[in-house]
Amino acid sequence: MSKVRVIVSSELSKVNPNTLYEHWVNYSGYNVLFCTEVNCLMKDPLGAEVQFVDSTERQTYIVPLCNHHATSGLIIDIGETFVAPLRHEESSESFD
Ligand SMILES: [Zn+2]
Repeated sequence: MSKVRVIVSSELSKVNPNTLYEHWVNYSGYNVLFCTEVNCLMKDPLGAEVQFVDSTERQTYIVPLCNHHATSGLIIDIGETFVAPLRHEESSESFD
C-alpha cells in the first residue's frame, strides 16, 4: 500500500484536471476506469496531485482520483497505483 496526501492548494492545482489525467495516461501507458483509492469505485477519475506521506521528498505525482478524493486533501491509500511525476515545466506548458 502507498499512503499519499492529496494536494489541493498548490499553485499547480490551477492546471486542468483532465490535462493532468492525460499526462498520467501518457506517462504510465495505463488507462483506468475508476478512482485509484483502494476502496473507491467512483468512475471517471481526474488527474490529482499527491505527495507520498512516508517520504521526505517534495516531488508531486499525478494519480487518477475521483472528484471527491481529488479535492479531499486527505491522506489516502492508492495501493500499487502507478504514479507519474509532475514536472513544473510540463504543467506550465499545459496551463499556457
Ligand atoms: Zn475516489
